[in-house]
Amino acid sequence: MASPTKEEVREALKRVKGPDLSGDIVSLGLVSDIVVSDGKVILSVSVPAERARELEPLRQAAEAAVRAVPGVKQAMVALTAERRPGSGPAAAPPQRPAPAQAQHAPAPKAGVPGVGAIVAVASGKGGVGKSTVAANFALGLAALGLKVGILDADIYGPSMPRLLGLKGRPEALGGRVLKPLERYDLKVMSIGFLVEEETPMIWRGPMVQSALVQMLREVAWGDLDVLVVDMPPGTGDAQLTMAQQVPLSGAIIVSTPQDLALIDARKGLAMFQRVDVPVLGIVENMSYFVCPHCGERTDIFGHGGAEHEAAHIGVPFLGAVPLDMRIRELSDAGTPVVAAEPQGEHAAAFRRIAEAAWVRVKAEQGSARQPPKIVVD
Ligand code: ADP
Repeated sequence: MASPTKEEVREALKRVKGPDLSGDIVSLGLVSDIVVSDGKVILSVSVPAERARELEPLRQAAEAAVRAVPGVKQAMVALTAERRPGSGPAAAPPQRPAPAQAQHAPAPKAGVPGVGAIVAVASGKGGVGKSTVAANFALGLAALGLKVGILDADIYGPSMPRLLGLKGRPEALGGRVLKPLERYDLKVMSIGFLVEEETPMIWRGPMVQSALVQMLREVAWGDLDVLVVDMPPGTGDAQLTMAQQVPLSGAIIVSTPQDLALIDARKGLAMFQRVDVPVLGIVENMSYFVCPHCGERTDIFGHGGAEHEAAHIGVPFLGAVPLDMRIRELSDAGTPVVAAEPQGEHAAAFRRIAEAAWVRVKAEQGSARQPPKIVVD
């Protein structure tokens, strides 16, 4: 059966009453995104943050209403206390970059106007396929119908120009604001566009920070549902400062199944926990190998390590991506697998990862604005 249209979903949601049982959630303007993809429907309903728990039945009613629409295979509804990007007074005013010397002071975390969510893709160490996953993850989010940007913050080895087949210098739009480049419906900014590839990357702490802040705040991102940030690998000071400096909605940790990498992944987890950034989940990359000749599957590194570890440390497992020559070849050619072979199984795996992460982003945004508990001692 054909996927339902957004309009059909919206019609069905008109039967769900608002938080105070007057009016319906559509007429009250509470329904924000509706993403329909292959019979799966994802949407969020804005509610006052302090009532999120009490309004769980509203969420369930909305989910049931969506499920009843012909053609819907799965419905996911999240409650959020968030406004749509650029929809008015909630947007934060533009923020000037923090002075570079303020390295040890807690960084200001004002949101980026027009950008609904910022998600970091990180790894405990290099070479685990973090950038490959970041590019395909961003494309997976775009395939869900979201407006997506990608910020290549891997200042030590920017990969987005190569991965997305992008060259050239971003145009200056007056003042210091740069226009991001675009490819495959993604807005892209990379330090690689600004610095020659051969330039030795001797970035010291303050320089790294100001480069990042500039790429975040002095780029005309426009209205985006989500900005994916490809972080530098590792969990050192530079990464920690970045995690602090960027108003992250959440982080995804890419790991290979090897034990060693998992130890590194745990460090990544601890780093985000230290700066109060929710970890949306772990992606296991190079999870298993399918022989291109005989089709036999080999778990070279011991498949399932990341999933097991994720369960152990209580972090969601977002999905596994196999080790496949196609993924590498297509990356090297500047045509990531999700863009090059959207009907293929790898693209489907990345879309599932994107979907799982997006639901978590929405849920985190819904719960993040709970009023703080007041403790009197
Ligand atoms: P990182 O950002 O963690 O340093 P990259 O994304 O640059 O890693 O990937 C390192 C190398 O591994 C690249 O050559 C890339 O094409 C390759 N690679 C990444 N993921 C896969 C995969 N699932 N299958 C095959 N090759 C992969």
